[in-house]
Amino acid sequence: MPQIEVLDEQTIDKIAAGEVVERPSSVVKELVENAIDAKATAITVEIKEGGTSLIRITDNGCGIEAAQIPIAFYRHSTSKIRKVEDLVRISSLGFRGEALSSIAAVAQVELITKTPEQFTGSRYLIEGGKEVSLAEIGAPNGTTFLVKNLFYNTPVRRKFLKSAQTEAGYVNDLMERIALSHPEISFKFINNGQIRLHTSGNGKLKDIIYHIYGRDIAANLLEIHAEYEGFSVDGFIGKPIIARGNRNFESYFINGRYIKSTLIAKALEDGYRGFMMQHKYPFTVLTISLDGTLVDVNVHPNKMELRFSNGEILYQQLAALLSTRLRESELIPKVTVHE
Ligand code: ADP
Ligand code: MG
Repeated sequence: MPQIEVLDEQTIDKIAAGEVVERPSSVVKELVENAIDAKATAITVEIKEGGTSLIRITDNGCGIEAAQIPIAFYRHSTSKIRKVEDLVRISSLGFRGEALSSIAAVAQVELITKTPEQFTGSRYLIEGGKEVSLAEIGAPNGTTFLVKNLFYNTPVRRKFLKSAQTEAGYVNDLMERIALSHPEISFKFINNGQIRLHTSGNGKLKDIIYHIYGRDIAANLLEIHAEYEGFSVDGFIGKPIIARGNRNFESYFINGRYIKSTLIAKALEDGYRGFMMQHKYPFTVLTISLDGTLVDVNVHPNKMELRFSNGEILYQQLAALLSTRLRESELIPKVTVHE
């Protein structure tokens, strides 16, 4: 009979890392979410070679105290919840306490951080889950993460990555969505030394849409604002004349979180039914604020999927909201579908 043994911590972290860190864009997502949770007002993301050789994320948020740094890298360590009941009124993007331990398990990580209360900052190095050093260093308030050589110790994972250009494309797409979901934060994204995105943080969603998608789209939007019992919907939807050939232009955020949802995608489709030709998809940027008791974010480690407790109502009201708004904007002639 084979011996049954408990895995050692580093092996456990590497396995867990597989669920959280699939590719460079997952690292960026986790670290930017942490920066947002740290109340940063300016976040810079820099990558080289699609994020495989280097990812640098700098924020001006609350920082981490020296004594807390090693704890932050333990698995299931978090400052955001204390018990499972906290999940129903969660306002932070993170809560599982898995990102830092997962990222550190599969890369070489350098952290420089300082809280406003401390005189000096700290520099922490951790590689493949093994702590290398912790020392004092002069630093501005806030946090910088450097993630080098992602998957250097998990060659199989590395093999599954696409070309640097494709991986950079995923990060770019993610950064655009995150910038759209938080107009009040200034985001800068630099790819191989080139600035690809820079938002002002002035709080105006339309400015960001213009910046990312250009004048044609920004000039053909309908503003959305509606409140219902338990949830509200804000943002912009595109007039049918700027319909797109694929779903990449449908962005929606639940409680500040960029997510994918077949329920919401279907509601958008239904809302636009009769206004658009077949195989066309709408342009949308919608922020949905939902009562925490109506949504469960704890479905998957990457938190991209949600479970709604009254999805049917959300679905119907969202679809009705869009079709009403489209009908109201008289400019729009109804499109008849020719097969
Ligand atoms: P989670 O976000 O689920 O709490 P993480 O592993 O992502 O777990 O981070 C662990 C903890 O490290 C966070 O709860 C937070 O206290 C701290 N932390 C991580 N990133 C930052 C940051 N950029 N600024 C301040 N604190 C941070
Ligand atoms: Mg986190």
